[in-house]
Amino acid sequence: MTAPTASPFIIVAIDGGAASGKSTSSKVLAERFHLLHVDTGSFYRGVTAEFLRLGVSTKDHTAVTAAAHALRFGTKLHDRSAAMEIGGRVIPDTEIRSRIVNENVSHFAAIPEVRTALLAYQRGLADFAREQNFRGVVMEGRDIGSVIFPGADFRFFLHADPLERARRREKEGHHDSITERDRIDSTRKTAPLSCPAGALSIDTTHLTPAQVVETLAAPIAAGFAAR
Ligand code: C5P
Repeated sequence: MTAPTASPFIIVAIDGGAASGKSTSSKVLAERFHLLHVDTGSFYRGVTAEFLRLGVSTKDHTAVTAAAHALRFGTKLHDRSAAMEIGGRVIPDTEIRSRIVNENVSHFAAIPEVRTALLAYQRGLADFAREQNFRGVVMEGRDIGSVIFPGADFRFFLHADPLERARRREKEGHHDSITERDRIDSTRKTAPLSCPAGALSIDTTHLTPAQVVETLAAPIAAGFAAR
């Protein structure tokens, strides 16, 4: 990895529902602008896999709170993405993208103590990115522009027609109840999925992945050029 000048450092927040185009575009933007890529959905998935391993039920508030407090996070750099360690272990992708995690993740993510446990860790990744000489962070999730980095330099909200999103997931070979997850994510009391005020909202239904990237890249490139 080449080490460009440390400044300016930018934060890009990309929020949206499942299969709205966040991951593909975040990864390309990370590469193009030398940013740390952070997929916060993978963090909620990792925590869910850990809770399921421990036998913690979403319905047992006391057990969830205790397990959330006991979580110890670390970070490994995988290419240009931040991989979260729990208790010194990165949980493999096959595990965090399994059917059981798909079915449970939104239920755990709706619990305020779980979100609080991840809050400081997610914010701290900006420091991690600086230490690793990145020019910034591109963080994708559901509450990045609203809660984690409301002062981000760029805030985007991606959305797409539900049928098109289901088609995308099928093409990736994943069995995922995205409509149900979106329903839970949008209606929860804490940090619900919604377009943050002032974010640029983009309908990706009829856009190719490359077109989505260019739509997001244009203001970022202009922002870098202006500094
Ligand atoms: O992005 P992905 O679809 O992998 O996210 C999995 C789940 O994690 C979401 O459905 C949501 O319940 C939760 N999540 C969240 N806040 C974030 C990122 C993900 O609640 N910032």
